[in-house]
Amino acid sequence: MILEVRAVAPFYKNGFVVACERTREAVLIDPGDEVDQLLASVRDLDVEVAAVLLTHAHIDHITGVGAAKDAFDVPVYLHRDDLFLYDNAVQQGAMFGFKVSQPPPVDAYYDLSPIGFGDYEARPHHTPGHCPGGVCLQVGKRGAAGDHLFVGDTLFAGSIGRTDLPGGNYDTLLQSITGVLFPLGDDAIVHPGHGPDTTIHRERTTNPLVLEYLAGRRS
Ligand SMILES: [Zn+2]
Ligand SMILES: [Zn+2]
Repeated sequence: MILEVRAVAPFYKNGFVVACERTREAVLIDPGDEVDQLLASVRDLDVEVAAVLLTHAHIDHITGVGAAKDAFDVPVYLHRDDLFLYDNAVQQGAMFGFKVSQPPPVDAYYDLSPIGFGDYEARPHHTPGHCPGGVCLQVGKRGAAGDHLFVGDTLFAGSIGRTDLPGGNYDTLLQSITGVLFPLGDDAIVHPGHGPDTTIHRERTTNPLVLEYLAGRRS
């Protein structure tokens, strides 16, 4: 699997190119302000983008969708429950003091079916809590349980996503982390929307907010 990550100011939100080394088919995950670097990476790698996959619709994760759509004219995927955020991109930008233009319409909503690219597939798992339509994209070989998790802002190395934005809920987020992400396996590599990679094992055993939640449930 080919994997490239880019992030730029002000949000330092990770945007990803994930591609099949054999067929050169690729997907873009969460193109934001770093989209020009992602497009350059696509050219350098000589891969062909088949889809734009969004983990959720907060502004930092979608500002590059327009440029990606212009460059590749491929379907844009989002969870239906985040459409209200996507449709309010301009207002979201204003909330953070940024002038952004409305990205092009969503083409497809995630269901349980995997999205294939070359020998690989991305399986969407609904992980609400940071926002209502958050998804984790589990990427691996077709038909296998992938061990690369693109989790958006659900889980970070040593932390978790904020829950004070519209539609956020702390208990729902912890349920998504412990009930949806953790069963995907200790060995799975977690690629968060911000900051460095981690693993399920590391977060399950050392993440203070996760440990606090699990301790609270036991008492
Ligand atoms: Zn977010
Ligand atoms: Zn974010």
